[in-house]
Amino acid sequence: MIVVMRSSAGQKEIDGVVNRLEREGFKIHLSKGVETTIIGAVGDETRLSTAVAVMPGVEKVLPILKPYKQASREFKNEDTIIDINGVIIGGRELQIMAGPCAVESRDQILEIACRVKEGGAKILRAGAFKPRTSPYSFQGLGEEGLKLLAEAREKTGLLVITEVMDGESVELVAEYADILQIGARNMQNFPLLKTIAKCEKPVLLKRGPAATFEEWIMAAEYIINGGNNQVILCERGIRTFETYTRNTLDLSAVPVIKMLTHLPVIIDPSHGTGRWELVEAMSLGAIACGADGLMVEVHCNPSEAMSDGPQSLTPENFNHLITKLRGIAAVVDRNL
Ligand code: PEP
Ligand code: MN
Repeated sequence: MIVVMRSSAGQKEIDGVVNRLEREGFKIHLSKGVETTIIGAVGDETRLSTAVAVMPGVEKVLPILKPYKQASREFKNEDTIIDINGVIIGGRELQIMAGPCAVESRDQILEIACRVKEGGAKILRAGAFKPRTSPYSFQGLGEEGLKLLAEAREKTGLLVITEVMDGESVELVAEYADILQIGARNMQNFPLLKTIAKCEKPVLLKRGPAATFEEWIMAAEYIINGGNNQVILCERGIRTFETYTRNTLDLSAVPVIKMLTHLPVIIDPSHGTGRWELVEAMSLGAIACGADGLMVEVHCNPSEAMSDGPQSLTPENFNHLITKLRGIAAVVDRNL
């Protein structure tokens, strides 16, 4: 529920309501405006909403009608801003996560890390555990891949984001990664969501290939409700009747997510299209419509890539993309 305090309410009345709600086990978010204070509260409201409505200083109590509560703009109006060692996601600065689909070798990841850093990325992406459609395809280097990612971070100062595919690996991946990625295929793996909620690292939650906005936000709600409110949403394309592109990149996700939630939104135009030639246009569109950053696949030799070569930019094309993005960023009042 949302508790709207009277403009005349003082600190004593606000504390009274907050303490009462906390005593009853509610999760609270306090938004102090110039005129009014609004308290977002999630818990068993059947009994308490009428009692709170008559407490001193309370103007009205409104229900949160959406099924997601803590992820909603009603519960928390201010944007969530995630600060990872000074790299800010969800603020004025755009963040570019770039790198190969998978860690393939030491030389490969160290070289790409240097190239994407030179291009302007602050976060290195690459999978060590790969969710592949075929059991015969390259499955990733596993822990060895995580170690190489840590070495790349050491060498370049880039942050590292990598996918975790199951609850048992969360602790291991969290030892090496700065941001944990939940892949599209795992968006509704509820045990994994509950486990990752206990982890203190930020989580990037990809949209499932057939997930509605509501299902996606509900998956984020699992993570927040479990205790981890550092959630970043990533649109990576959905399944439609179109087969020319690998997926249909749904850029409407950006304004919709911004309207419904307070969470940062990242666009992945690589998996979103499956074709490197389309990545630049969709990236420019993504930033123009308000995304907080991009996740882009980059490979020094896409034709030799062990996975997702056709959608990978070369470092030269990545540099070109960043130059063009700077123009769009300035128009929409963002820094890059
Ligand atoms: C990836 O980012 O490497 C990946 C596997 O993406 P998705 O889960 O969106 O398919
Ligand atoms: Mn990939």
